[in-house]
Amino acid sequence: MRKDFLVFGQPLLEQEELEEVLDTVKSAWLGTGPKVHLFEKQFADYKGVEHTAATNSCTAALHLACLGHELGDGDEVITTPTTFCATVNAIIHSGARPVLADIDPTTLNIDVKEIEKKITSKTKALLVVHFAGRPCDMEAIVDLARSRKLKVIEDCAHAIETEYRGQKVGTIGDMGCFSFYATKNITTGEGGMIVCRDKSALLRIKTLALHGLSCDAWSRFSDSGYRHYFVEEAGFKYNMMDLQAAIGIHQLRKIDEYWQRRQKIWNRYMEAFADLPIGLPPLIEKDTRHAYHLFTIRINPDNAGMSRDDFLEAMTERNIGVGVHYMSIPEHPYYQRAFSWKAEDFPEACAFGRETVSLPISPKLNEQDTEDVIDAVRSIILQGAKI
Ligand SMILES: *Cc1c(COP(=O)(O)O)cnc(C)c1O
Repeated sequence: MRKDFLVFGQPLLEQEELEEVLDTVKSAWLGTGPKVHLFEKQFADYKGVEHTAATNSCTAALHLACLGHELGDGDEVITTPTTFCATVNAIIHSGARPVLADIDPTTLNIDVKEIEKKITSKTKALLVVHFAGRPCDMEAIVDLARSRKLKVIEDCAHAIETEYRGQKVGTIGDMGCFSFYATKNITTGEGGMIVCRDKSALLRIKTLALHGLSCDAWSRFSDSGYRHYFVEEAGFKYNMMDLQAAIGIHQLRKIDEYWQRRQKIWNRYMEAFADLPIGLPPLIEKDTRHAYHLFTIRINPDNAGMSRDDFLEAMTERNIGVGVHYMSIPEHPYYQRAFSWKAEDFPEACAFGRETVSLPISPKLNEQDTEDVIDAVRSIILQGAKI
């Protein structure tokens, strides 16, 4: 058994990031400034778009995307029950009402047939999540949204590198929101980004992200001279800092290298677990690029001979950190109280959430780490299956 605990989702940070952070500290410009602007430009180039806005989280980006589409009181937004709570909370904080549509059990993404059933005269937008890094069925989603005059917001927290039939996710709907949280494919510690085709909508989002001010601090205090600012709207404090962008600039340069490392681990796991009585992630769809953010297995007690929670515990005992992405949204008491949702009303998301386990798949894993994960999974399952 390995001696040290393998932390789930650890980022790989190297010398370049360290030096850039040091340079930022020495420059004494910590807040939003030249490095954030550079990171926004780099990310725009990566996505092949003109306009991006960096934020201090994807949660903030999702909230701003909802506000940017003027969603609010009386509106409904359809989203998936298999996501992080931030997706749903962003809708709630905009004033709109979240409506859930169950997932497709094969792809684990929102099921377009279920979306259709949930559309009412109040529906204004669809907030879709590219779960684990696999793109949603964007052609069907965009067609449906156009025919019903709905906006499409893409939660791309798992999906920075994801492509769908030649298009980069986040640029297919009306807005795309990205996360650079510590466990995501690239990181700034905390951080997010909004991609948007409509320049005026993006400028409004930038204003809302910084108190509703007419210009940011870098423009106010730079050597071009003092400029007065005016409050145009009651905004938020959602801006990214140069200290965060300093890390992001170098992470983004290594995005393809990291993607290749995770792809290798993914393929190794697929091969090593093929004969076990557990569920494996869906196969990669043709004409798409998967971002390999989460490697999710399913522990169904009838097949595996043990419960999901017993498996989690056994992995931890073997010094392997694991995750659960996600118990379905209606499992949480707040949403049950606020919306009278029951987990069983979304049977596919409910079953997945009760059986799923995420295994470590970070570029930080070396070959020994990967083999340690494989040994632990194989021996726990093979023992359990005998009982
Ligand atoms: C991580 C995550 C978020 C929130 O991202 P933050 O940057 O931590 O705010 C939103 N949606 C999904 C699907 C996520 O995984």
